[in-house]
Amino acid sequence: MSKEVPYKIYLEEKDIPSSWYNVRSDMKQKPAPLLNPGTGKPMTAEELGMVFCDELVKQELDDTSAYIEIPQEIRDFYKMYRPSPLVRAYCLEKKLGTPAKIYYKFEGNNTSGSHKLNSAIAQAYYAKKQGLKGVTTETGAGQWGTALSMACAYFEMDCKVYMVKVSYEQKPFRREVMRTYGASVTPSPSDTTEIGRKILADHPGTTGSLGCAISEAVEVATHNEGYRYVLGSVLNQVLLHQSVIGLEAKAALDKYDVKPDIIIGCAGGGSNLGGLISPFMGQKLRGEADYRIIAVEPASCPSFTRGVFAYDFCDTGMICPLAKMYTLGCDYIPAPNHAGGLRFHGMSSTLSQLYHDGYMEATTVKQTEVFEAAEYFARVEGILPAPESAHAIRVAIDEAKKCKETGEEKTILFGLTGTGYFDMVAYEKFNDGVMTDYIPTDEELEEARKKLPRID
Ligand SMILES: *Cc1c(COP(=O)(O)O)cnc(C)c1O
Repeated sequence: MSKEVPYKIYLEEKDIPSSWYNVRSDMKQKPAPLLNPGTGKPMTAEELGMVFCDELVKQELDDTSAYIEIPQEIRDFYKMYRPSPLVRAYCLEKKLGTPAKIYYKFEGNNTSGSHKLNSAIAQAYYAKKQGLKGVTTETGAGQWGTALSMACAYFEMDCKVYMVKVSYEQKPFRREVMRTYGASVTPSPSDTTEIGRKILADHPGTTGSLGCAISEAVEVATHNEGYRYVLGSVLNQVLLHQSVIGLEAKAALDKYDVKPDIIIGCAGGGSNLGGLISPFMGQKLRGEADYRIIAVEPASCPSFTRGVFAYDFCDTGMICPLAKMYTLGCDYIPAPNHAGGLRFHGMSSTLSQLYHDGYMEATTVKQTEVFEAAEYFARVEGILPAPESAHAIRVAIDEAKKCKETGEEKTILFGLTGTGYFDMVAYEKFNDGVMTDYIPTDEELEEARKKLPRID
């Protein structure tokens, strides 16, 4: 007899994972190493240490340890907002009239409004432990910058954020939250860095991109004593930290003997999806269980579905290490009408390898469909979702509708990564009926691909 599942499955404080799970340990085909753009050779720990904190470099390069202990200081911080709830979407199921059982793991119940705090606090901790003065980073929509400024405030570290100019202008309140937590926020591209000045000269009037902002943040970190650069997604270490999402989700489902058939997450750089799926993917890799895993990306930035699996730069300025990933080319910038986040040109190397090896699927959705799903969800389940999260909602709803047609009682788990309070300009466009969809042409993608570095 299976137990009646409550609306919310709460875990207790003691159930916060004591270790992160490293999915790479179970991958037969490991993700390809980061390469030094100068030599074309794998980045050594020493080279990486000039940009990143030492302990994080260790985690980045560790393909073998299955579990990495979460330091007590980080667990103490996690206690302020974790374990996060796992919700059975009874209201949504009822409204849809589907026999599917829908669950979502909600990561929006902290001030940063997203899952990004899970890694921000870890990265700030290791920077502090190394005796650094501060960290630099980029932020697009602003969630990562906010999460990092919260984490830095907690450990009393300096935090310099380069924020993609279009977001800086569209989201003044995001910027102000970061400043409230003590961070300095500069719109990117800016004239405060060499690379920023070059990008401004080459592309006058540009509204910026994550790739530009990364270049600026890295330049500042490497030119200032006592600073390192931190990144909120894409890297192996970030997926590692985000495994708390999946570990908690699995523990909550296990309490009620629930096994998901389908696991869905939105994919920008791949950190929330990588985190959510990690323990499930581990089982799949070890042949203990099978799950259908779906990455959802915007039609306007389709790295998995229309990109190529190749070495590419993570940044526009081409100063960062090369990563082997599904990429659209580091010069690719989604059309300015794209409002839904997830605009990074590349994808986590770990997820790219898993996708390449057939362990997961990917699909794209158009932004008007995403906002339709967001609004539907807000009205039915009460939570105003981040547009990014709504990509997963869209596909979860579509899968549940398929179950209605076939009568299958599938169990669906998706990641509700955050709340959308700072995305009201995008919601406004949708509500006013002026939101449009943009799907890049093959020629456009071909053009961006020409800039891919040649690695043999
Ligand atoms: C940053 C962000 C994402 C996408 O980033 P990933 O690294 O792909 O997880 C998704 N949802 C929210 C709310 C975000 O802030």
